Amino acid sequence: MAYYVNRNIKMTWWERIYIPEIIKGMIITSRHFFVNLFGFIPFFLGTQKERKIMTVYYPEEQVQYPVAYRGRPVLAQNEDGHPACVACGLCEIACPAYCIHIEPGENSGKQNQYERWPDVFNIDYAICIFCGNCEEACPEEAIFMSDDCEISMLDRKKMLYTKEQLLTPVADLQKRIEFTRNMYAKWNY
Ligand code: SF4
Ligand code: SF4
Repeated sequence: MAYYVNRNIKMTWWERIYIPEIIKGMIITSRHFFVNLFGFIPFFLGTQKERKIMTVYYPEEQVQYPVAYRGRPVLAQNEDGHPACVACGLCEIACPAYCIHIEPGENSGKQNQYERWPDVFNIDYAICIFCGNCEEACPEEAIFMSDDCEISMLDRKKMLYTKEQLLTPVADLQKRIEFTRNMYAKWNY
């Protein structure tokens, strides 16, 4: 389920004096600490099937990221295999890290039914800051933040992903597409 940050929230007097909220936060942190410290005991004694523990044994266990999570940006691929991108360049301009490089291809009337597409579309994840500006700027729903964050490499050059590596079927992006539609409609852009 998608969730949003309510930026117009009004704090009560009780919240504005901060001390009770700090104590509340410390109680939550302490609870997590003790659950993590002792939560594995019933599991190892066999009295519980699952570990009551907040930490994840990565990489054997994987985290289910929320739909709002911003992992590496990917390019949406239509069902016919073509990128949804029209190479307008708005994401390239909006990118504060200058890590997107696009070279457009244009139709001479023969290649396909599309007017424009990216011949080259590269994103350098070594300098991407996962801000999501590219997704927000795109008028074609062609670039989305995915939930994939496992992109670390020993060689920085390999973190430059080409169009072929970035393409992700639209069907796999449905949740994020729905989320962005709700989010940007909410901010009334
Ligand atoms: S997420 Fe931000 S830094 Fe990364 S490619 Fe998109 S606009 Fe650029
Ligand atoms: S991804 Fe979107 S904003 Fe970027 S060039 Fe393609 S259509 Fe334009």
